[in-house]
Amino acid sequence: MLAFSLAPAAVAQTNSSYDAQFISWPTYNGNDLELSVDNSGTHFRLWSPKAKEARVNLYTDGHTGEAYKILPMTFDAATGTWTVSVPEKLYGQFYTFQINNDGKWLKETPGVWAKAVGVNGDRAAIIDFASTNPAGWATDKGPEVKNFSDVMLYEMHHRDMSMHPSSGIANKGKFLALTETGTTSPEGMKTGIDHLKELGITHVHILPSYDYNSVDEMNLQNNTYNWGYDPLNYNTPEGSYSTNPSDPATRVREMKEMVKALHDAGIGVVMDVVYNHTATNDDSNFELTAPGYYHRHWDDGRYSDASGCGNETASDLQQMRDYIINSVKYWVNEYHIDGFRFDLMAIHDTETMNQVAAELKKINPSVFVYGEGWTAGDSPLQTERRALKENVSKMTDIAVFSDDIRDAVKGHYTNAADRGFATGKPGLEETVKIGIVAATNHPQVNFKKGNNSKFAYADSPEMIVNYVSCHDDLCLTDKLHKSMAGEPEENMLAAAKLAQTIVFTSQGTPFMFAGEEVFRDKQGVHNSYNSPDSINAIDWSNKAKYRDQFEYYKGLTALRKAHPAFRMTSAADIAKNLKFDKIDSAKTPNLISYSLLNNANGDEWNEIKVVFNGASEAQTVNIKKGNWMIVAKDGKISPAGDLGATEGGKMTLAPYSALILARK
Ligand code: CA
Repeated sequence: MLAFSLAPAAVAQTNSSYDAQFISWPTYNGNDLELSVDNSGTHFRLWSPKAKEARVNLYTDGHTGEAYKILPMTFDAATGTWTVSVPEKLYGQFYTFQINNDGKWLKETPGVWAKAVGVNGDRAAIIDFASTNPAGWATDKGPEVKNFSDVMLYEMHHRDMSMHPSSGIANKGKFLALTETGTTSPEGMKTGIDHLKELGITHVHILPSYDYNSVDEMNLQNNTYNWGYDPLNYNTPEGSYSTNPSDPATRVREMKEMVKALHDAGIGVVMDVVYNHTATNDDSNFELTAPGYYHRHWDDGRYSDASGCGNETASDLQQMRDYIINSVKYWVNEYHIDGFRFDLMAIHDTETMNQVAAELKKINPSVFVYGEGWTAGDSPLQTERRALKENVSKMTDIAVFSDDIRDAVKGHYTNAADRGFATGKPGLEETVKIGIVAATNHPQVNFKKGNNSKFAYADSPEMIVNYVSCHDDLCLTDKLHKSMAGEPEENMLAAAKLAQTIVFTSQGTPFMFAGEEVFRDKQGVHNSYNSPDSINAIDWSNKAKYRDQFEYYKGLTALRKAHPAFRMTSAADIAKNLKFDKIDSAKTPNLISYSLLNNANGDEWNEIKVVFNGASEAQTVNIKKGNWMIVAKDGKISPAGDLGATEGGKMTLAPYSALILARK
């Protein structure tokens, strides 16, 4: 959440003097942490090196009743863990841990490794995971990804997609919503998973779907909405997205059914993960199991707060680093997740992120890892170690969001009225070009003139995710309404098409926010993290109303899928095959023209000409003579290039529009 880049500051130390005490703590990385069940019984192992005592409380219920048994645990100094076993398989039972910290028993906690929980995540549950697998799970696989630039991301919240009555979906706001086929809007347009297939994206990116804190799972009739950036139990699905949060196995099974349905449709599933902070400080599961360790602090012992949410975690400490790595591995192994979007990734260190990518690649080379290359406040972690956008070239197989293209195309996110390149503001051409070349070094791009970045920070286009909007800040439709106030809606629709054309034709990986293909809005609410469904839910009647918009987006995904020239995989290829036409931006602003040459990246088209006119007036360009197919012009697109032919010469682009031509 929250999007601003922090200017690199000279911070001398790796971590605070307070946190130095934790470096010497013994760590434990076994896969039997907290709970394991085998033929010899049920085994508990809690990592808590400085606890004076530790115990397990056993319950028959996930929420009510007293513990029916309390099991004292035994300490092993070498691993810093406390253990106890019972000879029975305790399937169907619940447990909490409790530690004595300096003579005081802390509150009960389900621990940090609960893989199933009771309602609201207060008690961990013991379930047989084999019983949660849907039919065909053993052979279930996500789409194979050869290059990350082949991925097209669709960021969605479960409630946004299905809560509106017009979705025609029965399991509204649930994981199961995306398992329903044949659903339609009142006008007969496809919704849900059929809509995603029709649109042509390759991966959904689901907003936080681990168990989070803010929605009361015992009162789902209140229809409380939250984005979910307040993590509680990182290794179990959120209960409110299941049909029965009180039954621990239901949320597990239903999330797997969602993944399976998407995989069967050829669509990958990326999870938004928020390991950078916890919902609460002293009462977080981290603090209740190993006080002090997992969070960072300033020298005086106060929680540091690079998340802007009250605390930040300490990925540079071994047990926390291992935790993040093991947690994402668990989601890939148990839930077949295809990728991770790291919230405020720069709170983590580059070494942790490199290990995350390397470990995931061993399990499935198609797993895509990307994140926000910024923090939301200062951190004790030194700048050069942060997984910042500016440090992305120190990482391998990790991508970052390009705020360069985002702010330059549609206008800056901090000022609703500010326009961008696609809505007539001059002077942003060079920053848009930085986006087009995926922030890689290019002889015709002057990074000194960039608004957000001053150097070619990406070594490869596979390090960049391009977008103009996401759940944060004004969505594209609202941004256009605010910045183009007074203009007719047709201009806003044209500008939306142009903005997304820039994203989907640029080098790197394109990303879009759910519903923008049907011109969804959020009634001007930029931070809608807890706004009601009436603000956040997508009205699917828009799909008939803005049919032309949807068809255009569909054309963009199809064009990108059919033409590898838009998906080059190296900076050298881009420098060689992408040539900008000389345009004096001082004389003719809001005009960018370039060619993709040499059958780039094995494309069947020898040359693709891409021209963007972001001005409120028509602009004319001179196209080299040749036998050109018209692929896109004046708000129409045809991936097959059958909008007609031209021999080049003078061609006029409508206001706020893209022209794409191709020749063999
Ligand atoms: Ca929850």
